[in-house]
Amino acid sequence: MQGDAPPTLRGEAGALTARWLLFHAQEQGFFSYAVLEKQAWESVLLERGVVGGGVSETPHSTPAGRRWVPDDGAVEGRIGAGQARASQMVRARYGLDSAGAMLVVALRYASDVAPEPAAARAGRGLPPLPLPVPGKSVATIGRFARGNWYGEIGARLAACAAATAKQMAAAGMPFFPPKRWQRFSNSRFPEKALAVAAGLGTIGRNGLLITEAPCSGDASSAVLLGLLLLPFDIETASIPPRRPPMLPLSRCGNCRRCIDACPTKALHFGPQPTFERERCVQHYSSRVGALPALIETSWQDQLYGCDLCLEACPYFRPDAEARTDRGMIGGALDAESIAGMDDGQLRALLKGTSLDQKWIEPGALRRNATLALRKPKEPRGAQ
Ligand code: SF4
Ligand code: SF4
Repeated sequence: MQGDAPPTLRGEAGALTARWLLFHAQEQGFFSYAVLEKQAWESVLLERGVVGGGVSETPHSTPAGRRWVPDDGAVEGRIGAGQARASQMVRARYGLDSAGAMLVVALRYASDVAPEPAAARAGRGLPPLPLPVPGKSVATIGRFARGNWYGEIGARLAACAAATAKQMAAAGMPFFPPKRWQRFSNSRFPEKALAVAAGLGTIGRNGLLITEAPCSGDASSAVLLGLLLLPFDIETASIPPRRPPMLPLSRCGNCRRCIDACPTKALHFGPQPTFERERCVQHYSSRVGALPALIETSWQDQLYGCDLCLEACPYFRPDAEARTDRGMIGGALDAESIAGMDDGQLRALLKGTSLDQKWIEPGALRRNATLALRKPKEPRGAQ
């Protein structure tokens, strides 16, 4: 799907639209937000090899989407012919040629989410969650995945799009149907690199984004990222000034708490964030197959989501006020029940949750629950 270049809003039209976007992002409760003109986000995609040449990302499902090891080249490789074809497909699939400016947002999630009651799930045709049974092993879920915060971000971005499109039309500007404003979260785009380019924060030694709120300077790494790709560009001069991109580790100093918290020594102390994907528990949690001995022996009770390096961080500050009613799976499930479910049962159970993703294989969740069975104890961090 190749398309024409998008129209560009200039002068007052561009300035008003950018301000409305940022206003509605704030209204929707996003912790941090900024607008990138097309040239700015395209530069990031080119640099990361998502389109065109450059270097590739390091895929790793994490609280902030795919983990990124920026610019040190330690675990990245030059893009090959196969990747070049893949990047052409990305460009075509998402209509990037005809896409314009981008709103980049960070949503702070809650420390915990209560599991959806069985009656409410039954009303939606879903089976009950196998909740923990006292004295039996539990399989825990990372804090970022206890509610479907990705879906929450998508819904809030849709509201931003609808409100901004309406104001634009009321001001005599062309109407851009909000359905054409593409939304992404936990996507194949380099969300953290885009957030850094947009001035939302810095990469910590654990590879995650430490995000800063506009004005207040509050910082939190308990965030998930989202992107709203607009069907029009906005000239740079019309976009309110952004904070300049921060260097990695700008908030870390000599801290090494995340490094010390990692059971597999996947993180290393140095002048750049350095992360060994092959030593990370989370890297394996969605993939079937035999586990390396180090990973298997280090596995605790995770069903999905290892929070250890995140929770160790002094910037891990979830939002006590954050709420979502989407995909409320809670912090722990009965490990034995999960280990005994077939693929169909697991898919039905997890429908609409943040674990309802193509790349999360039911067989991997069954194996993870089986590993958790080794540890009879109360849910970790499910208070
Ligand atoms: S603590 Fe270690 S194993 Fe767990 S997510 Fe962090 S880097 Fe991966
Ligand atoms: S725990 Fe310390 S070193 Fe690790 S990301 Fe947080 S501030 Fe940086």
